[in-house]
Amino acid sequence: MAQHPRRAATSTAGETRFIFITGGVVSSLGKGIAAASIGRLLVTRGFEVQLQKFDPYINVDPGTMSPYQHGEVFVTEDGAEADLDLGHYERFTDANTSRASNVTAGGIYNTVIRRERRGDYLGATVQVVPHITDEIKQRIRLMAESSEVDFVITEIGGTVGDIESLPFLEAIRQFPVDVGRRCCMFIHLTLVPYIGHAGELKTKPTQHSVNELRRIGIAPDMVVCRSESLLSGEIRRKIALFASLPVQAVVSARDVPDIYQVPLVFRAEGVDDYILHEHFELEAKAPDLRCWEAITGRASEARRSVRIALVGKYVKLADAYLSVVEALRHAGVHHGCKVEVEWVDSESVGEEDVDAMLTRADGILIPGGFGGRGFEGKIRAAQIARELRIPYLGICLGMHVAVSEFARHVAGMEGANSTEMDPETPFAVIDLLPEQKEIADMGGTMRLGADPVKLHDSTRVRELYGEAVVYERHRHRYEVNNHLRRRLESAGLVCSGTSPDERLVEVVELRPDQHPFFLASQYHPEFKSRPERPAPLFRELVGAALAHARTTERTTERTTEPAPSR
Ligand code: GLN
Repeated sequence: MAQHPRRAATSTAGETRFIFITGGVVSSLGKGIAAASIGRLLVTRGFEVQLQKFDPYINVDPGTMSPYQHGEVFVTEDGAEADLDLGHYERFTDANTSRASNVTAGGIYNTVIRRERRGDYLGATVQVVPHITDEIKQRIRLMAESSEVDFVITEIGGTVGDIESLPFLEAIRQFPVDVGRRCCMFIHLTLVPYIGHAGELKTKPTQHSVNELRRIGIAPDMVVCRSESLLSGEIRRKIALFASLPVQAVVSARDVPDIYQVPLVFRAEGVDDYILHEHFELEAKAPDLRCWEAITGRASEARRSVRIALVGKYVKLADAYLSVVEALRHAGVHHGCKVEVEWVDSESVGEEDVDAMLTRADGILIPGGFGGRGFEGKIRAAQIARELRIPYLGICLGMHVAVSEFARHVAGMEGANSTEMDPETPFAVIDLLPEQKEIADMGGTMRLGADPVKLHDSTRVRELYGEAVVYERHRHRYEVNNHLRRRLESAGLVCSGTSPDERLVEVVELRPDQHPFFLASQYHPEFKSRPERPAPLFRELVGAALAHARTTERTTERTTEPAPSR
Protein backbone atom coordinates (compact mmCIF):
# COMPACT_ATOMS: atom_id res chain seq x y z
CA MET A 1 0.00 0.00 0.00
CA ALA A 2 1.34 3.43 -0.91
CA GLN A 3 2.31 5.55 2.07
CA HIS A 4 0.64 8.90 2.46
CA PRO A 5 0.25 11.32 5.35
CA ARG A 6 -2.66 10.86 7.70
CA ARG A 7 -5.59 13.01 6.73
CA ALA A 8 -8.22 14.52 8.97
CA ALA A 9 -11.81 13.51 8.31
CA THR A 10 -12.56 16.99 7.00
CA SER A 11 -9.90 16.97 4.29
CA THR A 12 -11.14 13.86 2.52
CA ALA A 13 -13.76 15.72 0.48
CA GLY A 14 -13.91 14.40 -3.04
CA GLU A 15 -12.01 11.26 -2.16
CA THR A 16 -14.19 8.29 -1.46
CA ARG A 17 -12.90 5.10 0.13
CA PHE A 18 -14.34 1.77 -0.85
CA ILE A 19 -14.79 -1.12 1.52
CA PHE A 20 -15.82 -4.48 0.09
CA ILE A 21 -17.34 -7.13 2.29
CA THR A 22 -17.28 -10.75 1.18
CA GLY A 23 -18.38 -13.87 3.01
CA GLY A 24 -16.96 -17.34 3.20
CA VAL A 25 -17.47 -20.84 4.64
CA VAL A 26 -21.27 -20.73 4.92
CA SER A 27 -24.11 -18.37 4.12
CA SER A 28 -26.24 -16.58 6.72
CA LEU A 29 -23.25 -15.34 8.70
CA GLY A 30 -24.79 -11.92 9.02
CA LYS A 31 -22.74 -10.08 6.40
CA GLY A 32 -25.45 -7.44 6.20
CA ILE A 33 -25.29 -6.78 9.91
CA ALA A 34 -21.48 -6.78 9.83
CA ALA A 35 -21.51 -4.27 6.97
CA ALA A 36 -24.13 -2.16 8.74
CA SER A 37 -22.15 -2.24 12.00
CA ILE A 38 -18.97 -1.09 10.28
CA GLY A 39 -21.09 1.63 8.67
CA ARG A 40 -22.40 2.66 12.09
CA LEU A 41 -18.89 2.90 13.53
CA LEU A 42 -17.64 5.04 10.66
CA VAL A 43 -20.66 7.33 11.02
CA THR A 44 -19.92 7.66 14.72
CA ARG A 45 -16.37 8.65 13.83
CA GLY A 46 -17.69 11.56 11.80
CA PHE A 47 -17.74 10.15 8.28
CA GLU A 48 -20.52 9.99 5.74
CA VAL A 49 -21.21 6.47 4.63
CA GLN A 50 -23.39 4.75 2.06
CA LEU A 51 -23.91 1.01 1.94
CA GLN A 52 -24.62 -1.05 -1.11
CA LYS A 53 -25.53 -4.69 -1.64
CA PHE A 54 -24.80 -6.82 -4.69
CA ASP A 55 -27.04 -9.85 -5.06
CA PRO A 56 -25.85 -12.54 -7.46
CA TYR A 57 -29.28 -13.83 -8.51
CA ILE A 58 -30.92 -13.22 -11.89
CA ASN A 59 -34.14 -11.59 -10.65
CA VAL A 60 -33.99 -7.94 -11.69
CA ASP A 61 -35.03 -7.03 -8.15
CA PRO A 62 -36.40 -9.04 -5.23
CA GLY A 63 -39.88 -7.51 -5.70
CA THR A 64 -41.28 -10.59 -7.40
CA MET A 65 -39.72 -13.11 -4.99
CA SER A 66 -41.65 -14.92 -2.32
CA PRO A 67 -40.78 -13.71 1.18
CA TYR A 68 -40.00 -17.37 1.92
CA GLN A 69 -37.02 -17.16 -0.45
CA HIS A 70 -35.22 -14.07 0.73
CA GLY A 71 -37.33 -12.64 3.54
CA GLU A 72 -39.10 -9.31 3.34
CA VAL A 73 -38.87 -6.97 0.39
CA PHE A 74 -37.51 -3.70 1.72
CA VAL A 75 -38.71 -0.49 0.08
CA THR A 76 -36.41 2.52 -0.27
CA GLU A 77 -37.43 6.15 -0.16
CA ASP A 78 -37.09 6.40 -3.96
CA GLY A 79 -39.24 3.33 -4.50
CA ALA A 80 -36.86 0.44 -5.12
CA GLU A 81 -37.97 -3.02 -4.02
CA ALA A 82 -34.82 -4.23 -2.36
CA ASP A 83 -33.03 -6.82 -0.30
CA LEU A 84 -33.76 -6.78 3.41
CA ASP A 85 -30.14 -5.99 4.25
CA LEU A 86 -30.88 -2.42 3.16
CA GLY A 87 -33.17 -2.27 6.18
CA HIS A 88 -30.23 -3.12 8.43
CA TYR A 89 -28.12 -0.49 6.67
CA GLU A 90 -30.75 2.20 7.29
CA ARG A 91 -31.43 1.20 10.88
CA PHE A 92 -27.75 1.07 11.79
CA THR A 93 -26.45 4.13 9.95
CA ASP A 94 -29.63 6.23 10.07
CA ALA A 95 -29.05 7.16 6.42
CA ASN A 96 -31.56 6.40 3.69
CA THR A 97 -30.57 3.96 0.99
CA SER A 98 -31.70 4.34 -2.60
CA ARG A 99 -32.23 2.52 -5.86
CA ALA A 100 -28.44 2.47 -6.35
CA SER A 101 -27.99 0.61 -3.08
CA ASN A 102 -29.16 -2.78 -4.28
CA VAL A 103 -27.88 -4.28 -7.49
CA THR A 104 -28.66 -7.79 -8.70
CA ALA A 105 -26.98 -9.83 -11.41
CA GLY A 106 -30.32 -9.67 -13.24
CA GLY A 107 -30.29 -5.88 -13.06
CA ILE A 108 -26.75 -5.76 -14.44
CA TYR A 109 -27.51 -8.19 -17.28
CA ASN A 110 -30.73 -6.34 -18.04
CA THR A 111 -28.79 -3.08 -18.53
CA VAL A 112 -26.07 -4.69 -20.64
CA ILE A 113 -28.52 -6.62 -22.82
CA ARG A 114 -30.68 -3.56 -23.42
CA ARG A 115 -27.55 -1.67 -24.43
CA GLU A 116 -26.56 -4.49 -26.79
CA ARG A 117 -30.04 -4.46 -28.41
CA ARG A 118 -29.72 -0.73 -29.01
CA GLY A 119 -26.46 -1.42 -30.84
CA ASP A 120 -24.39 0.57 -28.35
CA TYR A 121 -21.52 -1.95 -28.42
CA LEU A 122 -20.87 -1.23 -32.11
CA GLY A 123 -20.44 -4.81 -33.21
CA ALA A 124 -18.32 -6.01 -30.29
CA THR A 125 -18.80 -9.44 -28.72
CA VAL A 126 -20.49 -8.71 -25.42
CA GLN A 127 -18.86 -10.69 -22.61
CA VAL A 128 -18.87 -11.18 -18.85
CA VAL A 129 -15.39 -9.64 -18.78
CA PRO A 130 -15.27 -6.74 -19.52
CA HIS A 131 -18.89 -5.76 -20.18
CA ILE A 132 -20.64 -7.23 -17.17
CA THR A 133 -17.75 -6.44 -14.83
CA ASP A 134 -17.55 -2.87 -16.21
CA GLU A 135 -21.24 -2.37 -15.48
CA ILE A 136 -20.75 -3.69 -11.93
CA LYS A 137 -17.85 -1.28 -11.37
CA GLN A 138 -19.97 1.50 -12.80
CA ARG A 139 -22.62 0.83 -10.13
CA ILE A 140 -20.01 1.14 -7.40
CA ARG A 141 -18.79 4.44 -8.82
CA LEU A 142 -22.37 5.65 -9.24
CA MET A 143 -22.94 5.10 -5.54
CA ALA A 144 -19.90 7.23 -4.72
CA GLU A 145 -20.80 9.96 -7.20
CA SER A 146 -24.49 10.18 -6.41
CA SER A 147 -23.94 10.59 -2.70
CA GLU A 148 -20.43 12.12 -2.44
CA VAL A 149 -19.74 10.20 0.73
CA ASP A 150 -16.47 9.43 2.51
CA PHE A 151 -17.05 5.69 2.39
CA VAL A 152 -18.96 3.33 0.15
CA ILE A 153 -19.33 -0.08 1.77
CA THR A 154 -20.27 -2.74 -0.75
CA GLU A 155 -21.49 -6.11 0.45
CA ILE A 156 -21.22 -8.97 -2.02
CA GLY A 157 -24.11 -11.40 -1.51
CA GLY A 158 -23.49 -15.14 -1.54
CA THR A 159 -20.41 -17.05 -0.43
CA VAL A 160 -16.96 -17.05 -1.99
CA GLY A 161 -16.75 -20.13 -4.18
CA ASP A 162 -20.28 -19.75 -5.60
CA ILE A 163 -20.37 -19.76 -9.39
CA GLU A 164 -22.95 -16.97 -9.32
CA SER A 165 -20.92 -14.38 -7.48
CA LEU A 166 -17.80 -14.70 -9.68
CA PRO A 167 -18.48 -11.67 -11.91
CA PHE A 168 -18.98 -9.51 -8.82
CA LEU A 169 -15.76 -10.74 -7.23
CA GLU A 170 -13.90 -10.22 -10.49
CA ALA A 171 -15.25 -6.65 -10.66
CA ILE A 172 -14.12 -5.81 -7.13
CA ARG A 173 -10.75 -7.41 -7.85
CA GLN A 174 -10.33 -4.99 -10.76
CA PHE A 175 -11.71 -2.00 -8.90
CA PRO A 176 -8.52 -0.99 -7.00
CA VAL A 177 -6.67 -0.90 -10.32
CA ASP A 178 -9.08 1.84 -11.44
CA VAL A 179 -9.25 3.96 -8.29
CA GLY A 180 -6.01 3.11 -6.49
CA ARG A 181 -5.32 0.35 -4.00
CA ARG A 182 -4.99 2.80 -1.11
CA CYS A 183 -8.64 3.81 -1.52
CA CYS A 184 -9.88 0.24 -1.17
CA MET A 185 -10.20 -2.32 1.56
CA PHE A 186 -11.36 -5.94 1.46
CA ILE A 187 -12.99 -7.41 4.53
CA HIS A 188 -13.79 -11.11 4.58
CA LEU A 189 -16.34 -12.57 6.99
CA THR A 190 -15.96 -16.23 7.89
CA LEU A 191 -17.05 -18.79 10.43
CA VAL A 192 -14.79 -20.36 13.04
CA PRO A 193 -16.86 -23.35 14.15
CA TYR A 194 -16.66 -24.97 17.55
CA ILE A 195 -16.30 -28.73 17.31
CA GLY A 196 -17.86 -30.06 20.47
CA HIS A 197 -16.22 -33.48 20.77
CA ALA A 198 -12.78 -31.99 20.14
CA GLY A 199 -13.59 -29.06 22.42
CA GLU A 200 -11.93 -26.71 19.93
CA LEU A 201 -12.57 -23.82 17.62
CA LYS A 202 -11.44 -24.76 14.11
CA THR A 203 -9.64 -22.33 11.82
CA LYS A 204 -9.30 -24.59 8.77
CA PRO A 205 -12.53 -23.45 7.00
CA THR A 206 -11.35 -19.84 7.37
CA GLN A 207 -7.94 -20.70 5.90
CA HIS A 208 -9.60 -22.42 2.94
CA SER A 209 -11.97 -19.57 2.39
CA VAL A 210 -9.18 -16.98 2.44
CA ASN A 211 -7.26 -19.15 -0.04
CA GLU A 212 -10.30 -19.32 -2.31
CA LEU A 213 -10.51 -15.54 -2.26
CA ARG A 214 -6.79 -15.23 -3.00
CA ARG A 215 -7.16 -17.64 -5.92
CA ILE A 216 -9.59 -15.11 -7.44
CA GLY A 217 -6.99 -12.41 -6.88
CA ILE A 218 -8.31 -10.75 -3.75
CA ALA A 219 -6.16 -10.63 -0.64
CA PRO A 220 -8.32 -9.67 2.35
CA ASP A 221 -7.16 -6.73 4.49
CA MET A 222 -9.20 -7.86 7.46
CA VAL A 223 -10.82 -11.14 8.43
CA VAL A 224 -13.89 -11.03 10.66
CA CYS A 225 -14.54 -14.39 12.29
CA ARG A 226 -17.97 -15.34 13.53
CA SER A 227 -17.77 -17.79 16.41
CA GLU A 228 -19.70 -18.87 19.46
CA SER A 229 -17.14 -17.43 21.83
CA LEU A 230 -14.28 -14.94 21.77
CA LEU A 231 -11.25 -16.14 19.79
CA SER A 232 -8.14 -16.71 21.84
CA GLY A 233 -4.89 -14.91 21.05
CA GLU A 234 -3.46 -18.17 19.75
CA ILE A 235 -6.28 -18.69 17.25
CA ARG A 236 -6.07 -15.09 16.11
CA ARG A 237 -2.34 -15.44 15.51
CA LYS A 238 -2.87 -18.63 13.54
CA ILE A 239 -5.47 -17.03 11.26
CA ALA A 240 -3.32 -13.91 10.92
CA LEU A 241 -0.35 -16.00 9.86
CA PHE A 242 -2.25 -17.88 7.16
CA ALA A 243 -4.00 -14.76 5.91
CA SER A 244 -0.74 -12.71 5.90
CA LEU A 245 -2.29 -10.13 8.18
CA PRO A 246 -1.27 -8.37 11.38
CA VAL A 247 -3.06 -9.93 14.29
CA GLN A 248 -5.16 -6.77 14.89
CA ALA A 249 -6.74 -7.37 11.48
CA VAL A 250 -8.27 -10.62 12.72
CA VAL A 251 -11.53 -9.73 14.40
CA SER A 252 -13.48 -11.93 16.73
CA ALA A 253 -17.19 -11.48 16.11
CA ARG A 254 -18.60 -13.61 18.87
CA ASP A 255 -22.32 -14.38 18.97
CA VAL A 256 -24.42 -11.79 20.78
CA PRO A 257 -28.08 -12.00 21.78
CA ASP A 258 -29.00 -8.70 20.14
CA ILE A 259 -27.92 -7.52 16.68
CA TYR A 260 -27.68 -3.95 17.96
CA GLN A 261 -24.75 -5.03 20.12
CA VAL A 262 -22.63 -5.88 17.07
CA PRO A 263 -21.30 -2.32 16.57
CA LEU A 264 -20.27 -2.33 20.23
CA VAL A 265 -18.50 -5.67 19.82
CA PHE A 266 -16.70 -4.39 16.72
CA ARG A 267 -15.71 -1.24 18.55
CA ALA A 268 -14.29 -3.27 21.41
CA GLU A 269 -12.31 -5.28 18.83
CA GLY A 270 -10.88 -2.07 17.41
CA VAL A 271 -12.43 -2.55 13.97
CA ASP A 272 -12.96 1.15 13.28
CA ASP A 273 -9.50 2.09 14.55
CA TYR A 274 -7.91 -0.50 12.32
CA ILE A 275 -9.91 0.57 9.26
CA LEU A 276 -9.32 4.27 9.77
CA HIS A 277 -5.87 4.56 11.30
CA GLU A 278 -4.02 1.45 10.18
CA HIS A 279 -5.53 0.77 6.80
CA PHE A 280 -6.57 4.12 5.35
CA GLU A 281 -4.27 6.20 7.56
CA LEU A 282 -6.99 8.70 8.36
CA GLU A 283 -7.54 10.70 11.48
CA ALA A 284 -10.97 10.79 13.00
CA LYS A 285 -12.80 12.06 16.02
CA ALA A 286 -13.40 9.72 18.93
CA PRO A 287 -16.54 7.63 18.62
CA ASP A 288 -19.61 8.34 20.68
CA LEU A 289 -21.68 5.22 21.10
CA ARG A 290 -23.54 6.27 24.23
CA CYS A 291 -26.85 6.29 22.41
CA TRP A 292 -26.29 2.71 21.25
CA GLU A 293 -25.10 1.56 24.62
CA ALA A 294 -28.28 3.03 26.06
CA ILE A 295 -30.45 1.30 23.45
CA THR A 296 -28.91 -2.12 23.94
CA GLY A 297 -28.79 -1.62 27.69
CA ARG A 298 -32.46 -0.70 27.86
CA ALA A 299 -33.39 -3.61 25.64
CA SER A 300 -31.64 -6.14 27.83
CA GLU A 301 -32.80 -4.59 31.11
CA ALA A 302 -36.48 -4.39 30.15
CA ARG A 303 -38.53 -6.03 32.86
CA ARG A 304 -42.06 -5.54 31.58
CA SER A 305 -43.25 -7.22 28.44
CA VAL A 306 -46.22 -7.04 26.11
CA ARG A 307 -47.50 -9.63 23.70
CA ILE A 308 -48.31 -8.53 20.19
CA ALA A 309 -50.04 -11.04 17.94
CA LEU A 310 -48.69 -10.70 14.41
CA VAL A 311 -51.22 -12.23 12.03
CA GLY A 312 -49.81 -13.11 8.64
CA LYS A 313 -49.25 -15.66 5.95
CA TYR A 314 -45.48 -16.10 6.19
CA VAL A 315 -45.17 -16.57 9.92
CA LYS A 316 -42.86 -19.57 9.61
CA LEU A 317 -40.04 -17.29 8.53
CA ALA A 318 -39.52 -14.34 10.85
CA ASP A 319 -37.40 -12.57 8.20
CA ALA A 320 -40.52 -12.23 6.07
CA TYR A 321 -41.59 -9.44 8.45
CA LEU A 322 -38.14 -8.26 9.47
CA SER A 323 -38.71 -4.50 9.48
CA VAL A 324 -42.04 -4.94 11.30
CA VAL A 325 -40.38 -6.98 14.04
CA GLU A 326 -37.50 -4.51 14.29
CA ALA A 327 -39.94 -1.59 14.52
CA LEU A 328 -41.73 -3.37 17.38
CA ARG A 329 -38.40 -3.77 19.15
CA HIS A 330 -37.58 -0.08 18.68
CA ALA A 331 -40.95 0.77 20.21
CA GLY A 332 -40.21 -1.61 23.06
CA VAL A 333 -36.87 0.11 23.73
CA HIS A 334 -38.70 3.45 23.80
CA HIS A 335 -41.17 2.22 26.41
CA GLY A 336 -38.59 0.20 28.33
CA CYS A 337 -40.46 -3.04 27.71
CA LYS A 338 -39.84 -6.20 25.79
CA VAL A 339 -42.19 -6.96 22.93
CA GLU A 340 -42.99 -10.63 22.56
CA VAL A 341 -44.26 -11.40 19.10
CA GLU A 342 -46.87 -14.15 18.94
CA TRP A 343 -46.84 -15.46 15.40
CA VAL A 344 -50.33 -16.26 14.18
CA ASP A 345 -50.86 -18.04 10.89
CA SER A 346 -53.82 -16.20 9.39
CA GLU A 347 -55.23 -19.47 8.06
CA SER A 348 -55.52 -20.82 11.60
CA VAL A 349 -57.62 -17.93 12.95
CA GLY A 350 -61.04 -19.31 13.87
CA GLU A 351 -59.57 -22.34 15.59
CA GLU A 352 -60.48 -22.22 19.25
CA ASP A 353 -57.00 -21.99 20.73
CA VAL A 354 -55.85 -19.42 18.18
CA ASP A 355 -58.86 -17.20 18.85
CA ALA A 356 -58.28 -17.57 22.57
CA MET A 357 -54.70 -16.47 22.08
CA LEU A 358 -55.81 -13.44 20.06
CA THR A 359 -58.28 -12.39 22.74
CA ARG A 360 -55.47 -12.56 25.30
CA ALA A 361 -53.02 -10.52 23.21
CA ASP A 362 -52.07 -7.02 24.33
CA GLY A 363 -52.07 -5.86 20.74
CA ILE A 364 -52.86 -7.21 17.28
CA LEU A 365 -50.84 -6.29 14.21
CA ILE A 366 -51.69 -7.22 10.64
CA PRO A 367 -48.79 -6.44 8.31
CA GLY A 368 -48.68 -6.11 4.53
CA GLY A 369 -49.42 -9.02 2.24
CA PHE A 370 -50.70 -10.18 -1.11
CA GLY A 371 -53.42 -12.55 -2.26
CA GLY A 372 -56.50 -14.10 -0.73
CA ARG A 373 -55.06 -16.95 1.30
CA GLY A 374 -55.74 -16.34 4.98
CA PHE A 375 -57.61 -13.09 4.32
CA GLU A 376 -60.77 -14.18 6.15
CA GLY A 377 -58.66 -15.13 9.17
CA LYS A 378 -57.22 -11.64 9.16
CA ILE A 379 -60.74 -10.17 9.02
CA ARG A 380 -61.64 -12.20 12.07
CA ALA A 381 -58.50 -11.06 13.90
CA ALA A 382 -59.37 -7.41 13.17
CA GLN A 383 -62.92 -8.02 14.38
CA ILE A 384 -61.61 -9.46 17.65
CA ALA A 385 -59.35 -6.42 18.07
CA ARG A 386 -62.16 -3.98 17.35
CA GLU A 387 -64.83 -5.64 19.45
CA LEU A 388 -62.64 -6.47 22.44
CA ARG A 389 -60.92 -3.07 22.31
CA ILE A 390 -57.49 -4.64 21.84
CA PRO A 391 -54.97 -2.18 20.32
CA TYR A 392 -54.78 -2.76 16.57
CA LEU A 393 -52.33 -1.66 13.92
CA GLY A 394 -52.98 -2.58 10.29
CA ILE A 395 -50.36 -2.00 7.63
CA CYS A 396 -51.21 -1.86 3.93
CA LEU A 397 -53.10 -5.15 3.51
CA GLY A 398 -53.80 -4.80 7.25
CA MET A 399 -55.63 -1.58 6.40
CA HIS A 400 -57.62 -3.31 3.67
CA VAL A 401 -58.56 -5.89 6.29
CA ALA A 402 -59.62 -3.23 8.80
CA VAL A 403 -61.72 -1.36 6.23
CA SER A 404 -63.40 -4.54 4.91
CA GLU A 405 -64.15 -5.74 8.46
CA PHE A 406 -65.58 -2.37 9.45
CA ALA A 407 -67.67 -2.23 6.27
CA ARG A 408 -69.12 -5.68 6.87
CA HIS A 409 -69.78 -5.54 10.58
CA VAL A 410 -70.35 -1.87 11.36
CA ALA A 411 -71.37 -0.11 8.14
CA GLY A 412 -73.81 -2.84 7.09
CA MET A 413 -72.12 -3.72 3.80
CA GLU A 414 -72.42 -7.46 3.85
CA GLY A 415 -69.80 -9.25 1.79
CA ALA A 416 -67.63 -6.10 1.56
CA ASN A 417 -64.14 -6.93 0.37
CA SER A 418 -61.13 -5.89 -1.60
CA THR A 419 -61.40 -6.74 -5.28
CA GLU A 420 -57.95 -8.33 -4.89
CA MET A 421 -59.71 -11.08 -2.88
CA ASP A 422 -63.15 -11.05 -4.47
CA PRO A 423 -63.58 -9.30 -7.82
CA GLU A 424 -67.37 -9.89 -7.60
CA THR A 425 -67.89 -8.38 -4.14
CA PRO A 426 -71.13 -6.32 -3.81
CA PHE A 427 -69.16 -3.69 -1.85
CA ALA A 428 -65.70 -3.16 -3.29
CA VAL A 429 -64.42 -1.03 -0.41
CA ILE A 430 -60.87 -1.62 -1.64
CA ASP A 431 -60.26 -1.47 -5.38
CA LEU A 432 -57.68 -0.73 -8.05
CA LEU A 433 -57.36 2.82 -9.23
CA PRO A 434 -58.55 3.14 -12.82
CA GLU A 435 -54.96 3.78 -14.03
CA GLN A 436 -53.71 0.58 -12.35
CA LYS A 437 -56.21 -1.64 -14.19
CA GLU A 438 -54.26 -1.55 -17.44
CA ILE A 439 -50.97 -2.85 -16.02
CA ALA A 440 -49.98 -6.47 -16.77
CA ASP A 441 -46.32 -6.65 -15.63
CA MET A 442 -45.79 -7.76 -12.03
CA GLY A 443 -42.30 -6.36 -11.33
CA GLY A 444 -41.95 -2.75 -10.22
CA THR A 445 -45.44 -1.68 -11.25
CA MET A 446 -46.93 -0.92 -7.86
CA ARG A 447 -47.13 2.42 -6.14
CA LEU A 448 -43.67 2.38 -4.62
CA GLY A 449 -41.63 4.61 -2.35
CA ALA A 450 -42.20 7.69 -0.26
CA ASP A 451 -45.12 10.01 -0.87
CA PRO A 452 -46.46 12.86 1.23
CA VAL A 453 -49.29 12.00 3.58
CA LYS A 454 -51.55 14.75 4.90
CA LEU A 455 -52.61 14.14 8.48
CA HIS A 456 -55.92 15.73 9.32
CA ASP A 457 -56.39 17.96 12.35
CA SER A 458 -57.88 16.62 15.55
CA THR A 459 -57.12 13.01 14.75
CA ARG A 460 -55.09 10.43 16.59
CA VAL A 461 -52.53 10.04 13.82
CA ARG A 462 -51.95 13.80 13.59
CA GLU A 463 -51.32 13.94 17.31
CA LEU A 464 -48.96 10.94 17.15
CA TYR A 465 -46.69 12.37 14.51
CA GLY A 466 -46.97 15.96 15.71
CA GLU A 467 -46.74 17.05 12.08
CA ALA A 468 -49.30 17.89 9.42
CA VAL A 469 -47.45 16.28 6.51
CA VAL A 470 -45.22 13.21 6.71
CA TYR A 471 -43.40 11.17 4.08
CA GLU A 472 -43.95 7.45 4.28
CA ARG A 473 -43.14 4.55 1.99
CA HIS A 474 -45.64 2.59 -0.05
CA ARG A 475 -45.82 -0.72 -1.85
CA HIS A 476 -49.28 -1.56 -3.09
CA ARG A 477 -51.82 -1.45 -5.90
CA TYR A 478 -55.19 -1.36 -4.19
CA GLU A 479 -56.76 1.70 -2.52
CA VAL A 480 -59.81 2.60 -0.45
CA ASN A 481 -62.66 3.06 -2.92
CA ASN A 482 -63.73 6.70 -2.95
CA HIS A 483 -67.26 5.78 -4.03
CA LEU A 484 -67.84 4.08 -0.68
CA ARG A 485 -65.72 6.37 1.47
CA ARG A 486 -68.55 8.65 2.63
CA ARG A 487 -70.62 5.67 3.69
CA LEU A 488 -67.74 4.27 5.74
CA GLU A 489 -67.13 7.68 7.29
CA SER A 490 -70.74 8.18 8.27
CA ALA A 491 -70.64 4.80 10.01
CA GLY A 492 -67.76 6.10 12.14
CA LEU A 493 -64.55 5.25 10.31
CA VAL A 494 -62.24 8.27 10.37
CA CYS A 495 -60.11 8.76 7.27
CA SER A 496 -57.48 10.66 9.20
CA GLY A 497 -54.67 10.64 6.65
CA THR A 498 -54.91 11.19 2.91
CA SER A 499 -52.78 12.17 -0.03
CA PRO A 500 -52.38 15.97 -0.14
CA ASP A 501 -55.14 16.16 -2.81
CA GLU A 502 -57.33 13.96 -0.56
CA ARG A 503 -57.90 11.51 -3.39
CA LEU A 504 -56.16 8.56 -1.70
CA VAL A 505 -56.89 7.37 1.81
CA GLU A 506 -53.66 6.84 3.74
CA VAL A 507 -54.81 6.32 7.33
CA VAL A 508 -58.04 5.14 8.91
CA GLU A 509 -58.79 5.08 12.62
CA LEU A 510 -61.54 4.78 15.17
CA ARG A 511 -62.29 7.70 17.49
CA PRO A 512 -60.86 7.42 21.02
CA ASP A 513 -64.37 7.12 22.47
CA GLN A 514 -64.88 4.06 20.27
CA HIS A 515 -61.61 2.26 20.79
CA PRO A 516 -58.37 2.85 22.73
CA PHE A 517 -56.19 2.39 19.62
CA PHE A 518 -57.46 1.13 16.30
CA LEU A 519 -55.47 2.52 13.40
CA ALA A 520 -54.35 1.34 9.99
CA SER A 521 -52.14 2.88 7.34
CA GLN A 522 -51.88 2.33 3.62
CA TYR A 523 -48.15 3.02 3.87
CA HIS A 524 -45.51 0.93 5.63
CA PRO A 525 -44.30 2.84 8.69
CA GLU A 526 -41.89 0.02 9.60
CA PHE A 527 -39.38 0.97 6.91
CA LYS A 528 -38.53 4.28 8.57
CA SER A 529 -38.31 3.06 12.14
CA ARG A 530 -34.91 3.41 13.81
CA PRO A 531 -33.60 1.99 17.09
CA GLU A 532 -33.21 5.51 18.45
CA ARG A 533 -36.42 6.83 16.81
CA PRO A 534 -39.25 4.31 16.62
CA ALA A 535 -41.92 4.84 13.98
CA PRO A 536 -44.78 6.75 15.68
CA LEU A 537 -47.43 4.16 14.83
CA PHE A 538 -45.40 1.34 16.35
CA ARG A 539 -44.52 3.49 19.34
CA GLU A 540 -48.19 4.09 19.94
CA LEU A 541 -49.23 0.46 19.35
CA VAL A 542 -46.79 -0.70 22.01
CA GLY A 543 -47.79 2.15 24.34
CA ALA A 544 -51.45 1.21 23.95
CA ALA A 545 -50.58 -2.47 24.39
CA LEU A 546 -48.86 -1.65 27.68
CA ALA A 547 -51.94 0.25 28.83
CA HIS A 548 -54.14 -2.64 27.73
CA ALA A 549 -51.96 -5.13 29.58
CA ARG A 550 -52.18 -2.98 32.68
CA THR A 551 -55.97 -2.85 32.59
CA THR A 552 -56.15 -6.59 32.14
CA GLU A 553 -53.27 -7.02 34.63
CA ARG A 554 -51.32 -8.98 32.12
CA THR A 555 -48.02 -7.09 32.23
CA THR A 556 -45.53 -9.74 33.20
CA GLU A 557 -42.83 -8.71 35.60
CA ARG A 558 -39.75 -10.58 34.56
CA THR A 559 -37.87 -12.25 37.30
CA THR A 560 -35.46 -14.23 35.18
CA GLU A 561 -32.88 -13.09 32.65
CA PRO A 562 -34.57 -11.80 29.48
CA ALA A 563 -34.39 -14.29 26.64
CA PRO A 564 -32.39 -13.35 23.53
CA SER A 565 -34.71 -11.44 21.29
CA ARG A 566 -33.56 -12.91 18.01
N1 GLN B 1 -52.01 -6.62 -1.79
C1 GLN B 1 -52.30 -5.27 -1.45
C2 GLN B 1 -52.09 -4.32 -2.62
O1 GLN B 1 -51.46 -4.64 -3.58
C3 GLN B 1 -51.50 -4.82 -0.26
C4 GLN B 1 -50.03 -4.77 -0.51
C5 GLN B 1 -49.23 -4.72 0.74
O2 GLN B 1 -49.72 -5.03 1.81
N2 GLN B 1 -47.96 -4.39 0.65
O3 GLN B 1 -52.56 -3.21 -2.60
